[in-house]
Amino acid sequence: MFSFPNNRTLPRTPHLVTSLPGPRARALVERDQAVTSPSYTRGYPLVAARGAGCMLEDVDGNVFLDLTAGIAVTATGHAHPEVVAAIQEQSARLVHMSGTDFYYEPMVQLAEDLAKRAPFPNGARVFFSNSGAESNEGAIKLARYYTGRSLIIAFLGAFHGRTYGAMSLTGSKTVQRQQFGPLLPGVTHIPYGTHESLDYLEQKLFPTVLPPTEVAAIVVEPIQGEGGYIVPEDGFLERIRSICSRHGILMIVDEVQAGMGRSGKLFATEHWGVMPDIITLAKGIASGLPLGAILSRPELMTWPPGSHATTFGGNPVACAAANATLRLLEAGLIDNAYKMGELLQAGLSKLASRFSRVSLPRGKGLMVAIDLLDGEGHLNSELRDQIVDRAFYKGLLLLGCGKSAIRFCPPLVIESDQIETALQILTELFEELGC
Ligand code: PLP
Repeated sequence: MFSFPNNRTLPRTPHLVTSLPGPRARALVERDQAVTSPSYTRGYPLVAARGAGCMLEDVDGNVFLDLTAGIAVTATGHAHPEVVAAIQEQSARLVHMSGTDFYYEPMVQLAEDLAKRAPFPNGARVFFSNSGAESNEGAIKLARYYTGRSLIIAFLGAFHGRTYGAMSLTGSKTVQRQQFGPLLPGVTHIPYGTHESLDYLEQKLFPTVLPPTEVAAIVVEPIQGEGGYIVPEDGFLERIRSICSRHGILMIVDEVQAGMGRSGKLFATEHWGVMPDIITLAKGIASGLPLGAILSRPELMTWPPGSHATTFGGNPVACAAANATLRLLEAGLIDNAYKMGELLQAGLSKLASRFSRVSLPRGKGLMVAIDLLDGEGHLNSELRDQIVDRAFYKGLLLLGCGKSAIRFCPPLVIESDQIETALQILTELFEELGC
């Protein structure tokens, strides 16, 4: 039985003590809006002060149940004592020395542990970055370097980050690309998740405009995240594997959101038994400290010293947090993600059968979504936005994704009573909004 001691330091259910936003939150939002970039996508005015497990307290003492995990990041929950201890211990010893030019144990340890667990036949080599976008940038470079080819295939609805290479692969919303061009040339997007799309690639694109011998990589999310928590059709990832193997193309799987236990397996591709060539990671890897990783089959990392490096990537404190995270994931959190995901989906299915404007849930582990619909069964983004917003005022933190989906990506420490609380609040909201 896994215990979650830190969950107990805040109430286990939402507890609101001011109207929202409270006075301190209101003042901070005003200060923020005067000085930070307007490109951030804030919805409701949550001003976080401290967290424990799945509970989050704002600056006015209001306590929320957090089903966002800071966009699928705080895998071990807010301020897990073992992660905090690892961060404190490492930061008192050595904060930075740059793994690009020097060596230190937390980075070696993490690379060894990831290499042991990577779903490749002969271990892995690991490059550490600072974020998901940077992991994907590096993966693009590695694929081009190793294959000597330049073209890349990505998917509509994909989200791979906002730096130039990653943005060029991203196919989620026009606002993410508009007025930023020219982007990386040689990227072709095809629809995600269906065999029809792969038929189009093989039967129409390969013989005409996209010679497979010039394709360096197919970059794919095992479950599309930002695009709507879309689980691909059976055989989709396996077929990409086989297309890649046949044409000498590298299969890059972006596990930035789905990886590190969130789907109920350490790597989401394990659900389909698929072995990629390269995996990119970030988000949950260090429970909230900035860290990303590129895992590749060892024989692919032929790039020479200086060809790819970074000052901060693999920082000792971030690696120490990741080492603690990995231990906790394997000590029970991955299993918990699987079990709690099943419970959540069962509860959401009941809601879908009761409320006609709520779709059946989809997803794996604690990467679950529902869509909100209009009277005719079409996707309804306004209703989704209303629910996400109103949930905040009832002490439940949610995020949207895709056109009309609510995503549920709580910390992997969530327990059944907290899932029940979330379902209860959703029921009230669906009733109030006539869903
Ligand atoms: N890849 C996926 C699948 C993501 O979900 C994200 C972020 O949401 C990224 C890449 C980009 O990660 P970051 O925001 O750390 O650059």
